[in-house]
Amino acid sequence: MVSTVPTPTDTHLANVRLEIRNLQAQLVLWRRKLHQNPELGFKEHQTATFITQKLTEWGIPHETGIAQTGIVAMIPGDKPGKVLGIRADMDALPIQEENDVPYRSQNDGVMHACGHDGHTAIALGTAYYLWQQRDRLAGTVKIIFQPAEEGPGGAKPMIEAGVLQNPAVDAMIGLHLWNNLPVGTLGVRSGPLMAAVECFRCTLLGKGGHGAMPHQTTDAVLVGSQVVNALQTVVARNVDPLDSAVVTVGTFHAGTALNVIADTAHISGTVRYFNPKLEGFIQQRIEAIIAGVCASHGASYDLDYWQLYPATVNDGEMAALVQSVASEVIETPLGVVPECQTMGGEDMSFFLREVPGCYFFLGAANGAKQLDFPHHHPRFDFDESVLCVGVEMFARCVERFCS
Ligand SMILES: [Zn+2]
Ligand SMILES: [Zn+2]
Repeated sequence: MVSTVPTPTDTHLANVRLEIRNLQAQLVLWRRKLHQNPELGFKEHQTATFITQKLTEWGIPHETGIAQTGIVAMIPGDKPGKVLGIRADMDALPIQEENDVPYRSQNDGVMHACGHDGHTAIALGTAYYLWQQRDRLAGTVKIIFQPAEEGPGGAKPMIEAGVLQNPAVDAMIGLHLWNNLPVGTLGVRSGPLMAAVECFRCTLLGKGGHGAMPHQTTDAVLVGSQVVNALQTVVARNVDPLDSAVVTVGTFHAGTALNVIADTAHISGTVRYFNPKLEGFIQQRIEAIIAGVCASHGASYDLDYWQLYPATVNDGEMAALVQSVASEVIETPLGVVPECQTMGGEDMSFFLREVPGCYFFLGAANGAKQLDFPHHHPRFDFDESVLCVGVEMFARCVERFCS
C-alpha cells in the first residue's frame, strides 16, 4: 500500500506554501496599487515611497535613494551564512493603457505593460515573509528594488553605488513574469537566457539634386537601401550559424519630395546576440559595411553605436538550484520549461556579470481570461495567481541557498 502520510519534508513544504498562499490577497492589492500608479525609469518616486512605507511598517532595515529611486532591504538571518541578492525592477513604460479594469493606470500615457508592478509586489511579499522567518535563516538576503530597467538602465548605477557590497553578495536571483509562457509554467536554463542589446544610429551623407539629373548627385536613398540590404549579410554570412543573432534596421528616413534626390538618409536599428564572443564583432562588421557601401558611392557617414545591456547569462549551479526548486513549486503537468530563451534584453545582466546567479521566467499568461497580450502591449495584463508562486520560488531558493 502506498502511504499518503506526508514525510516531514513534505509537511514543511506544505507549511511554507500555506503561509505564502495566505499573502496572496495582499500581493494582489499591492500589485494593483502599483499598477494604478505607474512611473517611468528614475522617476519611481511614489513607488519608492510605497515600498519604503511597507518596509518601515514591518521594521525591515533598508536604504533608499540608491541610483536615485532604488531601495535595498536587508534581511539578516539569526545565523551567519551566505548572502543572496533578490532583484526586482519597478519602472513602467510610456504606453497609454487600453485595459478596462478597476485598477487601470491613473497616470496618463504611462503603464505597467511589462509586469514590473508584479515583480515589485512579489519582492515585497518575499521581504515580508523572510522577515517573519529570519530566525530560521542562515545568512543574509538583500532585496534590491531597481529603477529604470526599460531604459536607460538602473542596474549598472546601483552596482556602481555599491549594492553588491557590505555585505558582499554571493549570488543573485530574479524573475520576470512572462506572458510568452502559460500560467503554471516556469522557464529557466543554464547559460544565456536573454540577449545582449546593442543600438545604432547612422546618418548617410550624399549630395542632393534634381530627380531628373541623378548623374549630378550622390543619392542617399540608394546608399541607404544598399546599406540596409548589405547589413542582412552580417547574421547570414559572418555569424556562426550555431550562434543566434539579429540585426534589425528599425527606421529609415530620407527625402523631402518625389522629384528631389535626397542628400541625407538616417537609419537606426538594434542588434541582439547571446554569445559574449560576439561583443564588438557585429559592431565592426556593421561599420565595415557602411564604410564600404559609402566608399563605393562617394558618400560619407556618421555612425553612433552603443551597447545598452550585455547578454543575461545564468550560472550553471544557480540555474540547477532554481530548476530543482521549480520542480517542487510548479506542479502543473506543463511544469518547468527547459531551454527557454528570448532575444529580448534585460539589465539583470549587469548583476549576473558581477556575481553568479539565475534569472528565470514565471509563466503568467492565461488565454481563457484574455490575459495573454504580449509585453509592452497597451492591453498587457497577467494572471495574478502567479504572485504567490513568485514569492514561493524566491523563499524556497533562499531556504536552499542560505542554510
Ligand atoms: Zn519590458
Ligand atoms: Zn520587463
